[in-house]
Amino acid sequence: MLIQQAPSCQLANILATKIHIQQGRPDQAIWKLTNDGKFTCSSAWNSIREKREKSRFNSLMWHRSIPFKSSFLLWRALWGKLPTNDKLTTFGNEPVHCFCCNRPSMDDIEHIFNNGQFAAYVWRCFAAAAGITTDHTSLPHLINQRWSAKYNNDNHKLLLQATPILICWNLWNNRCASKYGGKLSNMSRVKYAIYKDSYKIMNTVFPQIKWPSNWKELILMGERCIHDIKVTLVRWKKPPEQWVKINTDGSALDNPGKIGAGGILRDHTGRMLLAFATPLGEGTNIQAEVEATLFGLSWSLEMGCRNIILEVDSQLLVEWIMHRTQHPWSIDTQLRKLQKLIEQIQQFKCKYIYREANCVADSLLKHSHKITSPQIYRNSQQLPKETKACYQLDKQEVANFRRRKTKRIKEPP
Ligand SMILES: [Zn+2]
Repeated sequence: MLIQQAPSCQLANILATKIHIQQGRPDQAIWKLTNDGKFTCSSAWNSIREKREKSRFNSLMWHRSIPFKSSFLLWRALWGKLPTNDKLTTFGNEPVHCFCCNRPSMDDIEHIFNNGQFAAYVWRCFAAAAGITTDHTSLPHLINQRWSAKYNNDNHKLLLQATPILICWNLWNNRCASKYGGKLSNMSRVKYAIYKDSYKIMNTVFPQIKWPSNWKELILMGERCIHDIKVTLVRWKKPPEQWVKINTDGSALDNPGKIGAGGILRDHTGRMLLAFATPLGEGTNIQAEVEATLFGLSWSLEMGCRNIILEVDSQLLVEWIMHRTQHPWSIDTQLRKLQKLIEQIQQFKCKYIYREANCVADSLLKHSHKITSPQIYRNSQQLPKETKACYQLDKQEVANFRRRKTKRIKEPP
């Protein structure tokens, strides 16, 4: 039937598919290209369409806080889609001199935006303050040089990204005002407009900062701003009496790649009943996380525990286990197994904790990547050295500091 129904080029693929037969469950079609296994047109289209690699250069050209008109102007300049004189001469117009410089040259894109006397001077002004050296071989090259400059934080990054776009925008404005608006080409007007446009963007995106009133200080302020750091005290807590707590952790070295799991089962005094570190073969991060809980819960049941708290440092996993959100089809089999185990437990709780409070399981997980066969530890003396230290700290419920760089940016102190 397969030979009749399936295209011959796909036969090998179909035959190589591993089938997990589950008794009592009807067959179910899974669309592998989506997380939830359900077909969508967009995923099908995405798999067959020809997609060009996303280039860094092109993505830097657009930003939701940079005015579209300015980005679009740069795009037109780079693709040669502006009505400059070199374009107009192809329609038979007489060549004319540029509208920007004292010592005029030809009115073409490279001259207006890159190597003309006027343009080169503007670029130099804004490069010096930002500590960037630029050559003027070509406009794309020049822009790329500016976008390769190192940034210190998110606002510095935005500033470095926006400036070249704003420079081009205002060079073009100046050229058009001079050609059509009867105004004289004016350096200070252009420089001020570029500053003003940068200021507007920074003030909109980072309104909590008082941005200075000239370009040089603006870029300096951008460089020196810092991300706020949030420090939280976290600690592992002993389970209540009559309860045990199992902490697990799983991960893949590459995603997908070699996976492993670690975990520890402790009673209400914080004493360990059992711990494990085990390699699990190949898989993805989420598969490793679920396998770790499966491994841990099976052992907890084996040890005769009745009231079990499961603690993991993956918030998604908790949501999936508690059926709060739809889980990916790739872990469906494991989650069903897990459900079977949970049904055997008298009282069950599943909690999310910060990684800093899950350090014993985390350290056993790290150990699992170094070994080739499962290790089961029955007492704390057997634990690997690094794990032993974490275990002792947990036993006394010593707090750990969780430091997180927040998105919020502060003025320099
Ligand atoms: Zn010129």
